[in-house]
Amino acid sequence: MSREGRVIVTGGASGIGLALVENLLNDGWQVIAADIGEQAIEAARGQLAAFADKVHFARVDVSDEAAVISAVEAWAEEFGPLRGLVNSAGIGAVTPAFETTVEQFRRILDINLVGSFVISREVARAMKQTGGGSIVNIASVSGLVGSLGRTAYGSSKGGVIQMTRILAVEFAEYGIRVNAVAPGPIETPMAKAMHSAVVRKNWEERVPMRRYAEPQEVAGAIAFLLDEAKSSYVTGQTIAVDGGFSIAGLLQPE
Ligand code: NAD
Repeated sequence: MSREGRVIVTGGASGIGLALVENLLNDGWQVIAADIGEQAIEAARGQLAAFADKVHFARVDVSDEAAVISAVEAWAEEFGPLRGLVNSAGIGAVTPAFETTVEQFRRILDINLVGSFVISREVARAMKQTGGGSIVNIASVSGLVGSLGRTAYGSSKGGVIQMTRILAVEFAEYGIRVNAVAPGPIETPMAKAMHSAVVRKNWEERVPMRRYAEPQEVAGAIAFLLDEAKSSYVTGQTIAVDGGFSIAGLLQPE
């Protein structure tokens, strides 16, 4: 099936973003994969060579407001209409509050929260002119519950969840839906870098499904939220894709 318009995926050269780009291309979408990592972009370009005419790779830092404004303007002009935006660009850290510097805290907010805001605002401006679209933010279970060491990361993701609700309300009249997914532990380069063997064991004990998810399992939920034919009345929601982590109570037999 071929679909009208483009979907932008930030952080589209790695992990959840890359899995989503592949999923969308297989589903007939044309995609703009925006990422800051030059090597990751080159590797993703190679991996998706079969779709070379359907995917445009761009090097953009989502925390650079001026760069985002001019990139979105250029994409709308060259590839419009823009029908979807997925904010998967993000950084993480697990640092105790006493050791978290203001500089680290601001950096995480700047990319995960402010970066998602700026590109959402700019893409929504374009969508408003062309009949609407769907925005999906990637939050985290760390934005839903309090886990150790996530003062900055969890606050950024909690902010993403609340921003999702507010943008959903503000943009509804323009036919723009805004939703989020909150992943639990997902097998991506970020998780591989951040999770020690002890951390992995902790997750496996606390997740009712007792395992990490593959990035494609998150991509499926995002694709649902992007698809007007499947989720046309869903807006302002956060879907946890977490194997039951955020709803679980006691997990050991009494
Ligand atoms: P990843 O590191 O594999 O991918 C993230 C991508 O974002 C990278 O390609 C990186 O280059 C890009 N990026 C980072 N800073 C950027 C910037 N300033 N501008 C543009 N691109 C930038 O990580 P992932 O696990 O796929 O994470 C994707 C999203 O999912 C993140 O928002 C992360 O917080 C969230 N998440 C991941 C997990 C997990 O377990 N992996 C769990 C919950 C939430």
